[in-house]
Amino acid sequence: MSAPSSLPAPTAHPLPSYLQADHLGPWGIFLQQVDRVEPYLGNLARWVETLKRPKRILVVDVPIHMDDGRVAHFEGYRVQHNTSRGPGKGGVRFHQDVTLSEVMALSAWMSIKNAAVNVPYGGAKGGIRVDPKTLSRGELERMTRRYTSEIGIIIGPNKDIPAPDVNTNEQIMAWMMDTYSMNQGATATGVVTGKPVDLGGSLGRREATGRGVFTVGAEAARNIGLDISTARVAVQGFGNVGGVAGKLFAEAGARVVAVQDHGGAIYREAGLDVPSLLKHVVEKGTVAGFEHAEVMDAEKFWDVPCDIMIPAALEQQITKANAHRIQARMVIEGANGPTTPEADDILHERNVLVLPDVIANAGGVTVSYFEWVQDFSSFFWDEDEINKRLVRVMQQAFAGVWQVAEQHKVSLRTATFIVACQRILHTRELRGLYP
Ligand code: NAD
Repeated sequence: MSAPSSLPAPTAHPLPSYLQADHLGPWGIFLQQVDRVEPYLGNLARWVETLKRPKRILVVDVPIHMDDGRVAHFEGYRVQHNTSRGPGKGGVRFHQDVTLSEVMALSAWMSIKNAAVNVPYGGAKGGIRVDPKTLSRGELERMTRRYTSEIGIIIGPNKDIPAPDVNTNEQIMAWMMDTYSMNQGATATGVVTGKPVDLGGSLGRREATGRGVFTVGAEAARNIGLDISTARVAVQGFGNVGGVAGKLFAEAGARVVAVQDHGGAIYREAGLDVPSLLKHVVEKGTVAGFEHAEVMDAEKFWDVPCDIMIPAALEQQITKANAHRIQARMVIEGANGPTTPEADDILHERNVLVLPDVIANAGGVTVSYFEWVQDFSSFFWDEDEINKRLVRVMQQAFAGVWQVAEQHKVSLRTATFIVACQRILHTRELRGLYP
């Protein structure tokens, strides 16, 4: 019998307009990234169309009673990009700018991220087009519960497992878990991750993404002969991801010389006192006003002399306007999508090594996977065990990506896509098509 990969490529009908590569937006960027890796997929390229079409898109109306008696309607989404490797997995975002294109792209990047670190998940993402700051706590809870009920037909511990993302947190995960469980008639902790520890959440989850950023950063530094114990680090965003990554770099001896957040930027050539800065951020909500540092113009952050730069705040921060000014040898993407495609090319030409989001910030989803495993077994690990396993997963994943980048002489972003797409399409081929 001939190998499945020797069969002719499946024929494809033209994509609907909103799925076309020239349709501007995040989904268009994802399609371009897939086109870039197609030449490296060998026989698996015959399945590549799979990646260009989300498996399932659900758009839901979310009506709720507002506190003043009105009925308000919000638009919600859940997209399962690919489930060849396992249940869908990805966060839920509450933001006024959420669009279907964005949720589609984010779900696809979750497929890539989950395959890159080799956790047994497909990719999914959800969102509601709403500014949650305009809602009371009661309105937020009603909206979350109705949204969960509406997407309840496609989520579940074995189907698709939401998690926190922008403007969603442990409390929202607790409401989602409770709503799903009420509808099922049985507690199902494994339906979401990022829950409070007292409700089946995992120790180490809060620090996991920053720890992953540090782990891949340390591996890459060793590969390029950069000594972390003398390196200068600049961090944009000093929250969950940037704060933890900064702390771990400082503990390894690095000097965190500059930090920028929404309140401003600070600088200290001899290195900031990171534990004191973290305390200041907890009290004041920003790095601005930290007294043991010089105040720096926020825009000057991009010119700071440093060896490692960690964008850990928002999307599209490194652009063609500032990419040529960055002095670091290495950029570690803690945030999702902080580098625009043009800026990525500029950094590549300038020999600045970029550790892409799809591998660099995958520590969070890796510990989410540990949370889900612990929920299934109802047996919970200590934090040391979780951190050790996380480091092992990140190191192994990064070593594989590094090897592929060297083999094909491509960027780490393209290499991560090659590794991930091959894994996804290999399972697609093994499973075959039903019927
Ligand atoms: P967070 O809310 O804890 O921190 C965000 C930080 O960004 C804050 O320091 C804030 O001041 C700063 N910031 C906001 N607006 C800014 C601006 N205009 N200029 C400069 N700084 C600004 O968020 P987080 O959990 O640390 O997430 C940061 C990024 O990492 C996001 O892109 C998120 O999607 C991504 N990410 C987070 C996780 C996770 O587990 N938390 C996992 C993967 C990716």
